[in-house]
Parts: sequence; C-alpha cells; structure tokens
Amino acid sequence: MLAINSVNTYRIPQKFEYYKPRDLREALELLNSIEDAKIVAGGTDLVVDLKYRRVVPKALIDVSELSELRFIRTDGNYIEIGSAVTMQELVESEIVKKSLPLLAEVVESIGSWQIRNLATIGGNICNASPAADSVPPLLTYDAELELASLNGPRTVSIEKFFTGPKKTVLERGEILRSIKIPLSQQKFGWSYVKIGRTSFDLAKVSVAVLLRAEDGIVSEVRIALGSVAPTPVRARTTEKSITGMSLERAAVRASELIVSEIAPIDDVRSTAWYRSRVAKILVRDAIWKAYERFLQVGDKNEDQV
Ligand SMILES: Cc1cc2nc3c(=O)[nH]c(=O)nc-3n(C[C@H](O)[C@H](O)[C@H](O)COP(=O)(O)OP(=O)(O)OC[C@H]3O[C@@H](n4cnc5c(N)ncnc54)[C@H](O)[C@@H]3O)c2cc1C
Repeated sequence: MLAINSVNTYRIPQKFEYYKPRDLREALELLNSIEDAKIVAGGTDLVVDLKYRRVVPKALIDVSELSELRFIRTDGNYIEIGSAVTMQELVESEIVKKSLPLLAEVVESIGSWQIRNLATIGGNICNASPAADSVPPLLTYDAELELASLNGPRTVSIEKFFTGPKKTVLERGEILRSIKIPLSQQKFGWSYVKIGRTSFDLAKVSVAVLLRAEDGIVSEVRIALGSVAPTPVRARTTEKSITGMSLERAAVRASELIVSEIAPIDDVRSTAWYRSRVAKILVRDAIWKAYERFLQVGDKNEDQV
C-alpha cells in the first residue's frame, strides 16, 4: 500500500502559480520577473514532466491563446507560423496544405486527434526532443525561428537551435514567437517516413526528404532525420555526395553514407543498432518516395516548397 501511495504521490505535480497574460509583452515581463517560471502552450509535454517532477517550476505562463503567437500567414517569400498554432490547425490550414505539403503530411501523423488539438508547433520545437516530428521537415525547409524577449527579437536557424536532448539556445526570458519558412522558386517532391511502436508513439527513427531531379538525376536534395542523435540531424554530407547521381545510385549511396552522420543511442524505445539499420533503409525509401512525388506533382504546384 505504501509503495502504491508513493508512486501515486510522485505523479501529482508540486504546487505552482499559474498566469494567463493578455499579450506577448506581459508574458515576457512575467517570464523576466519570476525566477523558475516555465512557458506552457498545449501542455502535452510539460504536464507529463510536471507529474513526474522532472521539472518543478515556481510558475507557469500560459501562452496558448496569445494572438501574437496564433497566426499562419504568407508574404510570397515566406510562410510564417506563430508558435502557439496547434497541430490540428496546421493540418486544416489551406496555406500549409498548398505550400508546405511535407509539413502538412507530418503534422497529420502526430499523436491522436485530441493531442493535435492541444499540441503546438512551438511546444514541439522548444521541448527539444530528438524525436519531435515537426523538426525534420522544418530542417529540410531551412526554417528560421524568431525568438522574442524584452531586449527585442533575434532570429536563429532551426539547425542551430538544438544543443542536446531537451536543450536549446533559448535564453532566460526568451519565447519562441514564430517559425519562418522561405518559399522556394523551385518545386520539390517530398516524403516523411517514420517507424514507431504504434502510430501514437514517438518515432524510433524518422526521415524527411525534399528532392528535385532532372532526367532521373538528383539536382537538389535535402535530408533530415529524427531520433538518431542527441538532436535532430540535417544530413548535409549525404546530400552533397548524392547530388548529380542517378536516382538508383543516389538511393543506394545515401543508405551507405547516412550512418556516418548519425549517432543513435539505446533507450526505452529502441537500440542504437536497430536505429542504424532502420535509418539506412528509411533514407533509401524516403528518397524514392520523394522522387515519385516529384514526378507526380513537383512541377505543377504553385508556391510550394
Ligand atoms: C499521447 C501523446 C502522443 C504524442 N505523440 C507525438 C507524436 O506523434 N509526435 C511528436 O512529435 N510529439 C508527440 N507528443 C509530444 C507532444 O504532444 C508534442 O511535442 C507537442 O507538440 C508539444 O506541444 P505543447 O504545446 O503541448 O508543448 P508544452 O507541453 O506546452 O511545452 C513543451 C515545452 O516547450 C516549452 N514551450 C512551449 N511553447 C514555447 C514557446 N512559444 N516559447 C518557448 N518555450 C515554449 C515549454 O516551456 C516546455 O518546456 C505526444 C504527446 C502525448 C502526450
């Protein structure tokens, strides 16, 4: 009985203060003035951490309804997504469906409908899990992150944002405001393949690919992987090596090279050995799938990355 009680007690968060600021400025002021305050958006990662007391903040600052963080807009050169936009809003966005089909496909695969209604893209990024599904596509899009603070905004490329599992370059007092995705003049085929225990589980390995080809030769390719290193990985060496190769050679060569760009570990979801083996196969499959898409729709879509 004692053991059960101690387990249950352990899963009840310690007491904390809760703030719901009216605008971004107030959120930043609160974040600045309260030591050990945490931002909460959908809470689908943070509440789990609170229950297990992996984080014990003095206060939560809820940004989920701030209008400055809840928009999807385009100016022709960029698509900008506010950090508190939910996964379900991305699934339903006409802008995302039309111009970012890779992201649209990925967010539809995240969790369940109930989770997607709460989970935000900003939370997915800032939680800094190597398995975060939205990150490999954002890496292939060369996305930029706008960070807000009382000292003014700064922009960081998503490739430089992560420093380790659950670790980022976010400094005290900073909030992720938005994600900016440059629109390419060129059209790409796309693919996202992931392996997980069930469709609701986080990925054991995931691969996102954007690809263009001319007469069966790879003319541009971007490859990113999740769950195979302390941070999500952009496989730039592999990309460079297979550009200019026929699709047949490129798919085989990428599968050989990719292991030199990843550093998988053993954890609760999988082993390093399994992840390496699967990454080789998924990269090969993702390249072919992106090529098939490129042949089907690549040149027909307007304003599509
Ligand atoms: C059942 C279940 C299934 C799931 N399935 C998936 C899945 O398939 N794929 C996947 O990738 N994830 C999955 N997740 C994880 C989670 O849902 C996502 O990572 C989600 O996008 C987190 O967003 P959130 O708004 O809930 O973040 P929160 O939990 O509110 O916050 C997460 C972290 O980010 C910080 N944060 C949030 N917003 C900001 C901001 N604007 N600026 C600075 N810091 C911020 C918080 O302080 C916290 O540290 C799942 C979770 C559950 C419970």
